[in-house]
Amino acid sequence: MTFDIRLGLAIAAGKLSALSIRRLGRGGGTALPGIVSNQLDADILDKLAARIPGGSIVVAGTNGKTTTSRILAEILERAGLGVIHNRSGSNLVRGITAAFTEQVSISGQPSGQIAVIETDEAALPEVVRRTRPRLIVLLNLFRDQLDRYGELDTIARSWQAMLNELDPDQTVLINADDPALAAISEDTPAKRLTFGFQQCEHTLDHLPHAADAAICRRCGASLTYRELYLSHLGDYHCEQCGYRRPDLDYGATDVQLNGLDSGSLDLSSGDATLHLDASLPGLYNLYNVAGAAGAALTVGMPDWVVQAGIGEFKAAFGRIERVEYHNRNLVLVLIKNPTGFNEVLRTLAMSDMTDPVMIIINDLDADGRDVSWLWDVDAEHLADVEAPLFTAGIRSGDMAVRLKYAGIASERITPLGDLDGAIDQFVEAVPEGHTAFILPTYTAMLRLRELLHQRGVVQMFWEQ
Ligand SMILES: [Zn+2]
Repeated sequence: MTFDIRLGLAIAAGKLSALSIRRLGRGGGTALPGIVSNQLDADILDKLAARIPGGSIVVAGTNGKTTTSRILAEILERAGLGVIHNRSGSNLVRGITAAFTEQVSISGQPSGQIAVIETDEAALPEVVRRTRPRLIVLLNLFRDQLDRYGELDTIARSWQAMLNELDPDQTVLINADDPALAAISEDTPAKRLTFGFQQCEHTLDHLPHAADAAICRRCGASLTYRELYLSHLGDYHCEQCGYRRPDLDYGATDVQLNGLDSGSLDLSSGDATLHLDASLPGLYNLYNVAGAAGAALTVGMPDWVVQAGIGEFKAAFGRIERVEYHNRNLVLVLIKNPTGFNEVLRTLAMSDMTDPVMIIINDLDADGRDVSWLWDVDAEHLADVEAPLFTAGIRSGDMAVRLKYAGIASERITPLGDLDGAIDQFVEAVPEGHTAFILPTYTAMLRLRELLHQRGVVQMFWEQ
């Protein structure tokens, strides 16, 4: 390999800026080094990606891309591969460039054999064009988080254009239970593989409020679902034009949820079936497991490595945590958007629980300024359980109103207001030795951790 001076300078500058950001204590330095090195060599990402011997795997989707790419990286590492991965979750082009710059030598030698790249929805076409991945994993397209870019259709169209530009030696693995993904990948020249749920006892009887994209993209009619599993994901067909879900190359059967802690499924491909146990809660995570396992099998990972990698994967920071506090067992579950929120409520309702629940809603920038999304949440799930409900945070009142409109009796709802005062009131309402659930939005989770930390709770944070 000849030494590329421009590339070497760009890598050096990126590494230096990452180092100085850390020295200054300005956080992890996840984006600026990418901007700096990209200014010195505009092709840096293309060049570095081309040097990774085992190629790149790109993971995208509105929900689950962090978890899925982490599970996939875990499996590949378990097989003894060095994995280049934008683990910090900085998933725009500059963040991905920064992660690559960090994980190569000055001469541009990558430190790993394969790359796993978590990618933002809007950045996906550019990332694919520049890294030319061997495998692209598309998880889902939800309306929830797409408001900041415009409509779901804009993203879907840009993905479709990207898929139509791929080469036959590239592979795309899509979640076929998402009708939009199935439709936009129909004409790709790449090899298309599919995953989804073949059989699962946990079904919905109607599209939840948050659901979208349940329209046949061929003829515009409404889709009919034989089974509906989660939001708009399921086994669908169009009665008008006959379009239906594609056959599954990786089909999950016997999909089981074990309360809030874990789940399992059998993943079938051809004649082979692989049993997978995961310490992750909720159906949405079992979709992530199926996608990560399908991706790992597609790039040739042996069954036992896939099983072990998934079995030992621990939920990433912020997904679900347990805290012992004043002899109460607090379970913290981050709520990021209506779909995730719905799944948590559904899981709670299914387990018939009577333990107190506190929902903390903030509306700072990182949470989303507009709380109208609370009306996309099926709070009605909570009408059927007997748990006492508390609300807190900046928009405590809005959440309490939402619960009332879900048909929940006012005497079951206690608005506590400001989180700083609410935490102690809530804990006092939980009988000693019992479990309670706390569902905060992002900034509420950060503040909650601070408050618990001030109160002497230690062992909890930043589990990676
Ligand atoms: Zn149709």
